[in-house]
Amino acid sequence: MEWKNDALFAASLDKADELRSFRERFHIPVINGKTSIYLTGNSLGLQPVTASAYVQQELNDWALLGVEGHFHAKHPWKPYHEMLTAPLAELVGAKHQEVVVMNSLTVNLHLLMVSFYRPTEKRFRIICEARAFPSDQYAFASQAHFHGLDAEDAVIEIKPREGEYSLRTEDIVATIAQYADSVALVVLGAVNYYTGQLYDIKAITKAAHDAGAYAGFDCAHAVGNVALKLHEQEVDFACWCSYKYLNSGPGGVAGIFIHEKHVANKELPRFAGWWGQNKETRFQMGKEFDPIPTAEGWQLSNAPILSMAVHKASLDIFEEAGMERLHTKRKMMAAYLRYLLDDINASLETPCMNIITPADENARGCQVSMLMLRQGKQVFEELSKRSVVADWREPDVIRVAPVPLYNSFTDIFQFAAIIKEILNS
Ligand SMILES: *Cc1c(COP(=O)(O)O)cnc(C)c1O
Repeated sequence: MEWKNDALFAASLDKADELRSFRERFHIPVINGKTSIYLTGNSLGLQPVTASAYVQQELNDWALLGVEGHFHAKHPWKPYHEMLTAPLAELVGAKHQEVVVMNSLTVNLHLLMVSFYRPTEKRFRIICEARAFPSDQYAFASQAHFHGLDAEDAVIEIKPREGEYSLRTEDIVATIAQYADSVALVVLGAVNYYTGQLYDIKAITKAAHDAGAYAGFDCAHAVGNVALKLHEQEVDFACWCSYKYLNSGPGGVAGIFIHEKHVANKELPRFAGWWGQNKETRFQMGKEFDPIPTAEGWQLSNAPILSMAVHKASLDIFEEAGMERLHTKRKMMAAYLRYLLDDINASLETPCMNIITPADENARGCQVSMLMLRQGKQVFEELSKRSVVADWREPDVIRVAPVPLYNSFTDIFQFAAIIKEILNS
């Protein structure tokens, strides 16, 4: 595609965009009296317009039916979560039995580590990326402590090479091989939250398995963003949240993936609860735990229906838009944004930013991380004043994520034009 840095060109891309009407399905925040240029779907996705009706349906059924809603609501609450399984399985490339919606992300990461991080004297290490999301780092270290280990020794971080920002697959694979005698678990974000790098999930999983370890991925920044094939890639487990690219509301209910080869394994230790119990016998209230032989066997509690209703509103939109079309548009948007930012750099005597997100479209998703070489904080503050919602990460990174469901090419053009204006003022 021959890109052009002008408003008419951006408008022509919008006109040709088959998905453009989906923008109307979301509430776009109005900031300083103007419809914002909302580029933080990687932090909190926007609210689907249908969300309130989906929630209202459940509130009405609760008002009308009370406890009977578990069985007689329009969408009975007892099996409510089952409606979310198929669309999520589609998004993460899983079989239905491998996926369940439950809890929140960090809680699920801990629960999955209970099953998949079982250190022995010889095999006790967790290999992860340096600069993993802090919550994940705390989870890894506290799991090591829980097992009586010194986290300094047990948690191995893979760092980029000197002067680089992304991790090279060859370095990840080499580090795993280096610890082949002692590694128990390899866990990475599928997409790193800071750089936006999408890792080679297949190669990392294979390296983990070759070393005799399990491979898990935190897909918080990947789900609803990049194409995932967790089953085919033989990933052992994964978890994600629903409030970033999945637009399911602040603190919304999260989800997990457990590979088919593990789901029916009753020997895997787990922290159990009644919602993981065999559905035939759950209400006999017996003492013996007989887990459902699918990912559902990891559920603890009955489902948070109001949060799941929002999740359903959003997943229904994904289903309608179709991931193929979303991927095509996402790649175009990220490429257009990069082109415009490169153009800004080229117009200056010395570049003002370094784009630390990989240039390879197979190694990234929506997000573009701009490491500002000067005036970073000032640019960010000016952006905010002009109704642009971006995200600042200390010490010097502005993260933006054009989202194919609700951002337009004009949003991207205007964002770049505003940056240029700020730098020239
Ligand atoms: C957003 C995010 C979290 C947040 O965890 P919660 O438990 O949902 O608060 C954790 N890990 C990663 C990688 C994230 O991107």
